[in-house]
Amino acid sequence: MPSRISAARRRKLSPPRRLPVSVEHIIDKLTPLYGPIEWKPRYNALDELIFTVLTQHTSDLNAERAFDELRRRIPSWAQVIEADTEQVAKAIQSGGLANQKSVRIQAILREILARHGHLELEFLKDLELDEARAWLTDLPGVGPKTAAVVMAFSLGMPAMPVDTHIHRVSGRLGLIREGTSADDAHIVMEKIVAPDDRFNFHMLLITHGRQLCKARRPRCGDCPLAELCPSAAEFLATG
Ligand code: SF4
Repeated sequence: MPSRISAARRRKLSPPRRLPVSVEHIIDKLTPLYGPIEWKPRYNALDELIFTVLTQHTSDLNAERAFDELRRRIPSWAQVIEADTEQVAKAIQSGGLANQKSVRIQAILREILARHGHLELEFLKDLELDEARAWLTDLPGVGPKTAAVVMAFSLGMPAMPVDTHIHRVSGRLGLIREGTSADDAHIVMEKIVAPDDRFNFHMLLITHGRQLCKARRPRCGDCPLAELCPSAAEFLATG
């Protein structure tokens, strides 16, 4: 059966033929700056999923406050399903967009209960990466980044979350083609980064994006990747 993916889309989902900077080189150069990085689960998988929904369009700090307050006021996920949506929204108001997020959280929890019969997600660890991703992205409002965060951070699976920092840094380094969306970049990055390196690579790139390769005025003069980075000359000339 012929594939329905167009040639243009297939191109976006594939890495550039030759990477200007290899993944190994990036790891070698960034590890002394930001590493070593050890994987430790933050939350169980369901808590991580709800926490990640709360991080949407706000800082981790605000999301943590909202998450803690929600757990304090309505201690079990089964109770969150039964609670008034307004009550959930009040509990999470420090995380912003409380009206939308409260509806989404209840919808996610209901869907998990309906499909799995239990309010837990640790069973996803036993699935193949793509199966677990499909299970999560079928939940209401759960996209590739949220799914990858749950798999990488709480289940220890080799997913590579691509947030705004990683999308920007990988674009500047030429790891993804111009015009590749952050959602599509998940697929590209998993093609170029070995499974065992993905968590580490995610952490190195996100830290690099926050500290040196910032959205405005990246500090290319201080960057150990500048020699090979295809964007450095332009930023150094204008900076
Ligand atoms: S050289 Fe500049 S643009 Fe390239 S990765 Fe480093 S900070 Fe970012």
